[in-house]
Amino acid sequence: MNIETKKDVLALLDMPREEYLRDIAPLAKKIYKNYRNEIIANAMLGYSNVCRSRCLYCGMRAGSKIERYRLNLEEIKNSVDLADSQGMKRIFFISGEDPGCSFDDILEYLSYAKKLGMRVCLGIGELERSQFNELKAAGLDEYAMKFEMSDRDTFNRLNPSTNFDRRMERISFILEEGISLASGNIVDYPGQTRDSLANDIMLMKELSISWAPVISYLPAKDTPLAKEGGPGNLELLHKEISILRIMMPTVNITAQQPGRDLKKGLSDTEGNLDAVNSGANMLFVDLLPDAMAKNFSVVDNRSSLRLSHIKEIAGLAGMKVSYI
Ligand code: SF4
Repeated sequence: MNIETKKDVLALLDMPREEYLRDIAPLAKKIYKNYRNEIIANAMLGYSNVCRSRCLYCGMRAGSKIERYRLNLEEIKNSVDLADSQGMKRIFFISGEDPGCSFDDILEYLSYAKKLGMRVCLGIGELERSQFNELKAAGLDEYAMKFEMSDRDTFNRLNPSTNFDRRMERISFILEEGISLASGNIVDYPGQTRDSLANDIMLMKELSISWAPVISYLPAKDTPLAKEGGPGNLELLHKEISILRIMMPTVNITAQQPGRDLKKGLSDTEGNLDAVNSGANMLFVDLLPDAMAKNFSVVDNRSSLRLSHIKEIAGLAGMKVSYI
């Protein structure tokens, strides 16, 4: 099956659920398993939840009443050692847009992880071109810069601390530096149209992403967007995952997705397994202690995963676990 045009994407998004579950989801999973029959386990360190931005959908936005923390360089290196001791070979460093983290420290923890032979992804916000250049020189493999939504006006309304053109400019800096790009959207946020969702999917293809860090919309407590509507439709999320897998057989797709019980957050076995059965392949081991991880609250009830959970999901899906 070929999915090449927006019309093809829209046809799949509108496909009756039974037909999708019978024909498309199994095809997407098979395409991935033929390429690589493995769930990729990625270490993740949300080392600061301080953020100066005010994205309307995010529980960590400036001004939100959460307990803030920022690990120091030594603590970050200790977390990298922890990942290394668990055999992890991929690490994703993530933070809010935190002006309190020095760029020298960022370069240092990056080099530290690279010396241990890790594949490193960073998602720490909108940097300057020269900084992407320095990160590339220090060995950065991948940068996560989500476009969130391809609709310019909606992006500008929901992300008042930046704007769509600036975000896309940063994305082009990353690609021009030869750094792999992780990028994607929020699925079914309040007011999103099918047409806009199809445009998001086409944009991921156009950007030749290496990882699709997509997520179903989850209302975060006390955020402006939570007043506009409830959680995203999981059927649309699963269809998007399958479409991405069929369009891009080798791309990584986040499987850490919610199920029907939102209280179980992103570590819900049902939600994770449904995502894997739709074609997703990547799960994250949280390196933060639980008490801190609960405050990395981009969404409510995010919950942290351990390696044992990833092994369980892989077993249920008939797959192995890969650390690289
Ligand atoms: S989405 Fe990122 S940049 Fe926006 S408020 Fe949340 S942590 Fe900050």
